[in-house]
Amino acid sequence: MGRIHKLPVSVVNRIAAGEVVERPASIVKELLENALDAAPARIDVELDQGGVALVRVVDDGGGIEPDDLPLAVAAHATSKLRSADDLERIETLGFRGEALASIGAVARLVIRSRTPGGDGASIEVDGGRVAEVVPHGCAAGTTVEVHQLFGNVPARRAFLRAAATEWSHAAEAFVRTALAHPGVAFTLTHNGRRIHDLPASDSWLGRIAALHGAGVADRLLPVEADDGEIAVHGFVGRPEDDMSSTRLQHLFVAGRPFRDRAILHAVQEGYRGLLLSGRQPIVFLRFDLPADMVDVNVHPSKMEVRFREPSRLYRLVLSTLRTKFLATDMTARMKPPAGSLPAQSLSGSLSGQADVAIPRAGLPATVALPRHAGPPVAAARPLWEEDAAHDGDLPAVPAVATDAGGIATGVPAGIPTGTAAGPPAGRSAPVADSGERAVQMHDRYIVVESRDGIEVIDQHALHERLLYERLKSSVAAGGLEVQSLLVPERVDLGPGEVAVLTEHAETLARAGMRVEPFGGSTVIVTSKPVLTGRTAAATIIREVLDRLAAAAESAAATGMLVDEVLHGIACKAAIKAGDPLSQAEVDALVRERLVVRESHHCPHGRPTSLTLSRQELDRQFRRT
Ligand code: ADP
Ligand code: MG
Repeated sequence: MGRIHKLPVSVVNRIAAGEVVERPASIVKELLENALDAAPARIDVELDQGGVALVRVVDDGGGIEPDDLPLAVAAHATSKLRSADDLERIETLGFRGEALASIGAVARLVIRSRTPGGDGASIEVDGGRVAEVVPHGCAAGTTVEVHQLFGNVPARRAFLRAAATEWSHAAEAFVRTALAHPGVAFTLTHNGRRIHDLPASDSWLGRIAALHGAGVADRLLPVEADDGEIAVHGFVGRPEDDMSSTRLQHLFVAGRPFRDRAILHAVQEGYRGLLLSGRQPIVFLRFDLPADMVDVNVHPSKMEVRFREPSRLYRLVLSTLRTKFLATDMTARMKPPAGSLPAQSLSGSLSGQADVAIPRAGLPATVALPRHAGPPVAAARPLWEEDAAHDGDLPAVPAVATDAGGIATGVPAGIPTGTAAGPPAGRSAPVADSGERAVQMHDRYIVVESRDGIEVIDQHALHERLLYERLKSSVAAGGLEVQSLLVPERVDLGPGEVAVLTEHAETLARAGMRVEPFGGSTVIVTSKPVLTGRTAAATIIREVLDRLAAAAESAAATGMLVDEVLHGIACKAAIKAGDPLSQAEVDALVRERLVVRESHHCPHGRPTSLTLSRQELDRQFRRT
């Protein structure tokens, strides 16, 4: 007798479940797709314990006939395809007929459903065993519940992560799907707490704002392009609103979120020269193209799609972004307007600050600037900074604890965004205390004449490193100087983000950022490290949030989380490329780099300086 035999259905389904059902997030995704295919007006999603204990999805769509219920949970049974030809033009999100059968094989699945004109009924599947259909009174639409995922498969249950991690993946799946369907109302509830309540919206930007906060949405730039057959449209972030993770990069085609490395590469290319290396832009892009130009049947969980002409999409995305950034004056970030703005342009939201000694983040804290530095002159303030200052509910006059130890030098230290205290750097290259002459060039590099040659320093990278080292050693020594904000700063976030911040409130507090929920999707920041100078708390919080979300995912230890927060603070509080520095500030930076360990690499791992040795110069000029 041969040794090959057909597998029983229960085993087939278990195997399929291995591909389709990885974790609660996969369940959320599959059930949402099913609900959306039923053309509902609203969908409510409820999870308990990260979705491991329960995922419930309720829709008010077309429902399932009682007779169809056993088929709905059978493998390879679908109402969405009839023939292989249909695969060429899939218009529904589902089509494989596998999800419910797979889920029923590895959990307890309960479906209650009623079509608008019909009778309600329910069916239950537990670890692959299908029970009888029973009549069940219910509203039109479908409720699907998945209880105790992998309850009957201990080996797979062992692979699930902590509930908090599963929750963050599941919430991410929800967010991606909800972003793709702004016309449907959604709610998301976790352990009885409402996390998202999204009204149906005819504007995509409205949905983005509801999910990620108006703070993100209001600063997005619209993009749109069409090559006759393929159209792309959506929103992209300004280069200065970059992130440390790809969390806010969303691609959609035919109502489906998808991943595509080539397209994201085109995005990176589009931002080339505008972002620091390793930083990620925000993008929400939707592609519209004929159904036969995209194949969605290439991945069991449909996370990836295949395009017939990927290079066309690549070019379209790249040219769209390039055109956008050429049209929008992004040069301001790199190069502040030549000359100085008239003094009165500093009034308005900034009045009253100019005469307070507000340190450029961290710079003067350990340096007594020379007495003869003179009064601040009208600032050459980059225009984009001014934009940013009007954003995100900044209090008109940020409270600054001028008496905080370390910064009370009494010398105007220059406002952070570019008051030149003293003569502009670059004219005569005075000698720093270290005995090295240093000059700022192109508002982004500092060139130092050292004993051994010439050193070119990236001002942002170096300052970021210095700030980080100082923050880190203060925290370690328990002596981080924290400034309480007299007027707490309000930050508008996405609702899910509030939860992340609240969860990590203690970690943030250890890094000097005290954050409290303020109701809805708003938090207030009541303190921040003195070293951050005048950098808006909102800017720091967004950066930190991003890093926390990424780090928490990898279940990092508390110490590492604090470190992530410090990195985020240093990154945002550091001077930027494009910020003009006074000579005193240049000298302070140059001097301090000698004191701080490891100043050769900024926290992102980029070099902070390049050195050209005298020997090398002499050799090049044939002097030796
Ligand atoms: P697929 O979605 O690939 O067809 P599923 O196993 O996910 O496969 O679902 C099987 C069938 O059950 C679907 O084809 C559909 O007819 C029906 N169904 C599942 N969920 C719903 C729902 N929420 N509303 C209406 N019908 C549904
Ligand atoms: Mg399906």
